[in-house]
Amino acid sequence: MNVADSERVASALEHLGYEYSPQIEKADVIVLNTCVVRQSAEEKAYGRLTTLLPVKRARPDVVINLMGCLVGIKENNPLHKRFPYVDVFSPPSDPAPLVEFLISRGDHRQEEIETARRYALMDGDLLLPNFSQGKQVIGWIPIVYGCSHACAYCIIPYKRGIERSRPPEEILKEANSLASQGVKEVTLLGQIVDRYGKDRPEYPSLASLLAQTSEIEGIERIRFLTSHPNWMNDELLEAVATLPKVMPHIEIPNQAGDDEVLANMRRGYTADQYRRLVEKIRNRIPGVSIATDIIVGFPGETDAQFQHTYDLLAELKLDMVHLARYSPRKGTVSQRTMADDVPNDEKWRRFRAIEKLQEAVQREIYASYQDRTVPILFEEKLKKRWKGRTPTNKLVFVETERDLLGRVLPVRITWTGPWSARGELVENKE
Ligand code: SAH
Repeated sequence: MNVADSERVASALEHLGYEYSPQIEKADVIVLNTCVVRQSAEEKAYGRLTTLLPVKRARPDVVINLMGCLVGIKENNPLHKRFPYVDVFSPPSDPAPLVEFLISRGDHRQEEIETARRYALMDGDLLLPNFSQGKQVIGWIPIVYGCSHACAYCIIPYKRGIERSRPPEEILKEANSLASQGVKEVTLLGQIVDRYGKDRPEYPSLASLLAQTSEIEGIERIRFLTSHPNWMNDELLEAVATLPKVMPHIEIPNQAGDDEVLANMRRGYTADQYRRLVEKIRNRIPGVSIATDIIVGFPGETDAQFQHTYDLLAELKLDMVHLARYSPRKGTVSQRTMADDVPNDEKWRRFRAIEKLQEAVQREIYASYQDRTVPILFEEKLKKRWKGRTPTNKLVFVETERDLLGRVLPVRITWTGPWSARGELVENKE
């Protein structure tokens, strides 16, 4: 989401005559886009912010823009007092405050101003920033802003505001415009992406939106994240199963495998409902890959309750686990009403246990690709190797002198590990 937001800021700024600089020391404008989902992310943001003070002292004309969840949607932000050297504060997904600041300060032509404002509103006709033009294979498109679910641990609803679906015309216009700039794969984004349109009865469902996105010429692959188990319906599974461009990959957080912990988290489902959903997804979409999110050490989580999570993961053998140790976030239900009582070293023990389990699971899943030939979309070259992904989102590296950027080519897998695979291009007549 933040990558998508930052690209949109860059794009709007280019219409005011700015261009990307790889060095902070040379930049006239510095945008720090932040995440606060866990304490560690928040600390990283403060750390970076502190390093910008000497930059501002040395060059008082530099414009510093703090953006994202550290700022949040609240007015009268105490950060204004704490960081007086920040010139502009922008809520998540909103380039407008920076654009307006630069307009008010600079000497811009009227048409520049109008175009920059239009881009800042993100009304769909997205031009990729210059530095990624012709290089970017994967595009990110926010389709639902904010979240209204309020899981007990989660700060996102407070920082990103209530759930707002974007108009379908805007999304499709943006996807079209990305396709015309060489993007081959788009990922539709939302905190609960499968709730797309639920706040706007006149909008299509996510399944229809996927079908409409599939019509776009040039877009070869479509993904979406993140889903919530309670909103993953048959229509959506049907769309994934039948639309050839929609990749067989589902991101569906479980968070915990114990019913009491799930209830305390206010997730709205039981471990068994999650188990049955995974079964249903696998039956409906053969060969599907499923990724999940897990939090260990939620308040009150006992050893036995953690074991339920561990056992569920051992049983389901999911393709990927985004793992986190519980981090109390100010203002959330769990922070206000429950003690953060699982000791830090115990959180780490649980974290490592799942990490170890998952490494073995993934080793096994990747190994099943050995000697198979799979279509890989190539995203970028890292040193001598091209990096690409299978439809199931498995990472595959191929060493070759050929330029593979943006191509989908058959690759025979020759080596596999727990996090990635290697392969070679299958000779074809091209
Ligand atoms: N909207 C998605 C993802 C949100 S953030 C969802 O609802 O699942 C990504 C992940 O961060 C969450 O899935 C959760 O696992 C993790 N997370 C959120 N708040 C957290 C907290 N307070 N402590 C630790 N992990 C947290």
